[in-house]
Amino acid sequence: MRIGLFIKNKVINETEEFEIRNIITSFGHEIDDLNPDLVISIGGDGTFLKAVQKYIDRIDDIWFLCLNKGKLAFFSDFYVEDLADILKDDTISQIVKFRLLESEVDGEKIYAVNEIRIESPFHTLISDVYVNNTLLENFRGNGLVVSSSLGSSAYNKSLGGAVVDTSLEVLELSEVAPINNYLFTSLRSPLVVPSSSSFTFEGNFERVSLGYDHLVKTGLSTNRIKISLSNKCVSLIWKKDHNHISRLNESFIKGR
Ligand code: NAP
Ligand code: MN
Repeated sequence: MRIGLFIKNKVINETEEFEIRNIITSFGHEIDDLNPDLVISIGGDGTFLKAVQKYIDRIDDIWFLCLNKGKLAFFSDFYVEDLADILKDDTISQIVKFRLLESEVDGEKIYAVNEIRIESPFHTLISDVYVNNTLLENFRGNGLVVSSSLGSSAYNKSLGGAVVDTSLEVLELSEVAPINNYLFTSLRSPLVVPSSSSFTFEGNFERVSLGYDHLVKTGLSTNRIKISLSNKCVSLIWKKDHNHISRLNESFIKGR
C-alpha cells in the first residue's frame, strides 16, 4: 500500500517521525505523499480537515487514518502509539464512509467534512433560506451554518444545534445570532432535514464570508448558494467497536 503522511507542524519530533516511517516500511508499505491509498493524519481534527482538502481531487480513492496527538481529535479512535497494531491486525479497525457537503460558488466546487456556512458579523447578513425549493424564512442575523452529521459536534454544537449520531445521514441548519423582533423573525431553532434535501441561501453576498471547514472565501459575486450532500465521500478508519456515545463522553464530558 502507498501511504501518505500528513503531520501537524511540530506535533512530533524528528525521531518520532523517523520511527513512524520505519513502522510503515517494516510492514512492506511504501511512503507516497503524491498518490497515496491511505493518508495518515497526525495531530487533531484540524489536521484531518486540512488533509481532506489536500487530497480532495482523489478523495474517493483514499482512506484516512487519524492518529491523535494532544488534540481533541473527535475524528480519531487511535493514537500515534497504536500505528503498528493497526497495520498488523486489520480486525481491530473498520472503514466508515461519510458523504461530504458540497456547494458551487462563483464557478468553483467546494467540499467540506463539517460544515459550509455564510457569516457577516459586522453588517447584518440578509438571506432568504430555502429547503429544496420551498421558502423557510427571510433570515437576518450573523450567519447560517449547514452541518453534516459528522460536523454536528463542531461549530453546529456551539450554536446549540443537536449532536447527530454519525450513523444518521442528515443535514442540519443552525442560525448564528438571528435578529428577532416584531419586524423580522426566523425559525430560531436548529433544523434537521434528510440527506436528499438541500439548503439554498439567496441574497447579496458581496460582504459575506463563506466558510467551509477551516477555509474561507470572501468577495463573492454569487447571490445564490446551494448546499447539499455530495456523492463524494471521505473514508475514515475507526475502531471496529467505535461507539458514538463513548466518543461524546470522552471528548466533551470526561476527557480521554
Ligand atoms: P479549531 O479552532 O482548532 O477548531 C475548533 C475545535 O473544534 C477544535 O478543538 C477541533 O478539534 C474541534 N473540531 C473540529 N471538528 C470537529 C468535529 N467534527 N467534532 C467535534 N469537534 C471538532 O479549527 P480547526 O481545527 O481548523 O477546525 C475547523 C472547525 O472549527 C470548523 O469546521 C468548525 O466546525 C470549527 N469551528 C468552531 C467554532 C465554534 O465552535 N464557535 C467556530 C469556528 C470554527 P482539534 O483540537 O482536534 O483540531
Ligand atoms: Mn484545531
